[in-house]
Amino acid sequence: MTPPPTPPYAVVGGGPAAGAGARALAAAGADVVLLTAEDRPPYDRTVLSKDFLLTPGSVVPPVWPPDAGWRQHIDVRTGATVVALDPDARELTTASGERVVFEAVLLAPGAEPRRLGVPGADGPGVHHLRDVADAARLSEAMDAARRLVVVGGGVIGLEVAAAAAMRGLDVEVVEATRRVLGRGVPAAVADRLLALHARHGVSVRTSTSPDAVQRDASGALTGVLLADGVVLPADLVVAGIGVRPREELAVAAGLTCDDGILVDPSGRTSHPAVFAAGDAVRTRRPGELPGIRLESFTAAGRQGEVAAHAMLGGDDAFTDVPWWWSDQYDATLQAIGVPPVRARERVREEVVEVPDGLLVLSFVDDRLVAACGATSGPAIARPVRAAGPVIAAGATVDVAALRAAGHDLAALASVLRSAARASGGSGVPGEAQLDAAVARVEPP
Ligand code: ADP
Repeated sequence: MTPPPTPPYAVVGGGPAAGAGARALAAAGADVVLLTAEDRPPYDRTVLSKDFLLTPGSVVPPVWPPDAGWRQHIDVRTGATVVALDPDARELTTASGERVVFEAVLLAPGAEPRRLGVPGADGPGVHHLRDVADAARLSEAMDAARRLVVVGGGVIGLEVAAAAAMRGLDVEVVEATRRVLGRGVPAAVADRLLALHARHGVSVRTSTSPDAVQRDASGALTGVLLADGVVLPADLVVAGIGVRPREELAVAAGLTCDDGILVDPSGRTSHPAVFAAGDAVRTRRPGELPGIRLESFTAAGRQGEVAAHAMLGGDDAFTDVPWWWSDQYDATLQAIGVPPVRARERVREEVVEVPDGLLVLSFVDDRLVAACGATSGPAIARPVRAAGPVIAAGATVDVAALRAAGHDLAALASVLRSAARASGGSGVPGEAQLDAAVARVEPP
C-alpha cells in the first residue's frame, strides 16, 4: 500500500520574503502552495514608488526568474486571502473557504500602510501606497491631478514627491516631525536631498500635520488644512506615514507577537509548525530586547530563505547587515546598518564629501554601525556596500585615512575594505545578497 501523500509546505504572501521562501523550498525539491491575496506571483514592490510611478505602463519585476526548473514545485494561488490559521491542525483557510493542510507554513504577509485618519481623508483623491493596485490607481490619478500634497516626509513620501514633480505636478510635502527622513538617515544626507527637492520646486513643511482633508459640495478634494491653520490647495493627497506589521492572522492563531510576529534569527515563531519572515516579523535573539523589525527588500528576501531552510530542518540564521536604497530624481540614497536602539545617543558621525554627494559614517565607541550616503547616480553604492563587512565585524575604521581618501569613492571603498580585512571579517553573511542587490542599482 502506498503511504498517504505528505502535505505540502505552505507560504502566505506575495513579496520578497514569500518569494524567496517558496523558491528555497522548491529548489530543495519540496512541494509548495503559495497563497497570495494579489493577482500575480511574488514581485518586487520597490519599483512602485519609483520607476512605476514615473513611467506609466512600466512593468513590475517578478522575484522569480521565468523558466527556473524549481518553479514546477510551486502551486501559486492568486486572489487567495488567508483568513485563518490553525497551527495545531496545520491548516489554513482562505476568504473563499478553501482549506490548505500543510507540513509547515511560512507567514510573510508584509506590512499595512498606516491610514491618514483625519476628517475628509476617507474619500476619493486620498491615496496610500503598498501594492501594485495602489500604485496603478495613484499613477492614473496623477494624470489628471495638478496639485499634490504628500503627507509624511519618509522614504515613500519623498519618492512619490519626486516622481510627481517629474511628471509636472505641483508638490508640497508635510512632515509632522522637525525633519524629513528622521528614521535612519543622518541629517546631513536628508538636507542634501531636501535641497534637491527644492531645486525641483518641491517644498517641504516640517513640524505640522493635516487636521482635515477639505472637499467641495460634490465631494471633490480641494485642499488640506494643517494644524497651524494653513490650507494647502490640492486635488490629490498621498499619505506615506509609515506601516504596521500585518500580524492579525498570527495573533488570532495564538502566536507570540509584539509589534511584529516574534521570530528567532532562523524564522521560528512560538509554534513549531509556523515560520515567518519579512516586514511582518520582529526578530529577537534570546534575551535581546526589543529585537528588530526591518522594512527592507533585501532583508525580507534573506529572511524568507533562512526560514525555508529551518522549515526543512536545516540550520541557518539571519545575521545580515540591513541594506536599502532610495531613488529620487537622479540621486541615489543608500544606507547600510542600523545604530543599536540603546546606543542612539552615543552615535558619532563622520561626514565625508564625495563628488556630487556625501557619505556619513556612524560610529558607536569607535565601532562602525551604519553608513549612509547620497550621490547623483548610483556611485555611492560602492563605499556604502564596502561598509557592510566592517559593520558586520563590529570593527573600527581609520578616520584619518578616510578623510585623506575623501572625494575619491574608490579610495574610500578601499579604506573600508582594508578595515574589514584587518578585522578578519571574511565570508561576511549576506554579502551575496548584497552583491545581487547592488547589481540592481549599479550598472555594470
Ligand atoms: P514610509 O515607509 O511610509 O516612508 P517612514 O516611517 O519612513 O514610513 O516615514 C513616515 C514619515 O511620516 C515620518 O517621517 C513621520 O514622522 C511622518 N508622519 C507620520 N504621521 C504623520 C502625519 N500625520 N502628518 C505628517 N507626517 C507624518
